[in-house]
Amino acid sequence: MKHFEESLYDAVCQKFRIDKLYFESKTDHQHLMIFHNAQLGRVMTLDGVVQTTEADEFIYHEMMAHVPLLAHGQATEVLIIGGGDGGMLREVVRHPNVKRVVQVEIDQAVIEMSERFLPQHSQGAFQDPRVEIVIADGLQFVQETSLRFDVIISDSTDPVGPGEALFTKGFYANCQRCLKPGGILATQNGVCYMQLQEVRDTYQRLRPIFADATFYGAAVPTYVGGIMTFAWGSDNPAYRQVPLSTLAERFQAAKLQTRYYNPAIHQGAFALPQYVVQALQ
Ligand code: SAM
Repeated sequence: MKHFEESLYDAVCQKFRIDKLYFESKTDHQHLMIFHNAQLGRVMTLDGVVQTTEADEFIYHEMMAHVPLLAHGQATEVLIIGGGDGGMLREVVRHPNVKRVVQVEIDQAVIEMSERFLPQHSQGAFQDPRVEIVIADGLQFVQETSLRFDVIISDSTDPVGPGEALFTKGFYANCQRCLKPGGILATQNGVCYMQLQEVRDTYQRLRPIFADATFYGAAVPTYVGGIMTFAWGSDNPAYRQVPLSTLAERFQAAKLQTRYYNPAIHQGAFALPQYVVQALQ
């Protein structure tokens, strides 16, 4: 029986039974695998690290899309960096107010293989007329584009390999440049219990750039080790104190059907464990 052993950490690893292998190849940028696991459904890995599974992807994608979009309340233009599996795009295009989404993914093969073997992730979102796909390095895109966005979501791999550029001060500063006044940046920032240094590093990089820099969290079972932290940068601290009643109105108006997100989860997600608060001091 074949297994996949994740290589993210030195001293511990999680192991998945490969019940059926759909795809395995070295793309131009990374080693991509898509397989079926009886408990988690289809699983995608890149360079030995689990990216997403059919069973629990809704937690990650709903929290990374709906928290910034509903906190903002009037976002019409959204930039997604990475996210080649299409799950983030699926959630973003569910917002009727969103008129334009640019997604910048470095690896075309991830999009192609996800559309083929993980269709439940994108559910046709790549064909939405509001969507423009750019195959490019996200860092280079934010350095060069003259477009401006209300919300930027960085749905990246971990900071090794091609994803490393998406955790740099230069990337965050250029995201800030690409935000319209009142815009919000949300980024994947690892599991804080396992990757606390990543949280510290990102905070040090975001603080000089955004008037309000913080994190919010959600436990996503396949990102092993506790709460996954999402970095948050904006120039308006009020965005993370939007009253529950306002969030509820926006949630209802958008007619979102969710399985994890709701306005109370949204508010509570900004409460950080004390060890994270201390790490940020
Ligand atoms: N949800 C996942 C997680 O938390 O691990 C991330 C999933 S998504 C598949 C990550 C995507 O980021 C990959 O498709 C990868 O190709 C893309 N990516 C990595 N580095 C990038 C870069 N510099 N510019 C644009 N996309 C990048």
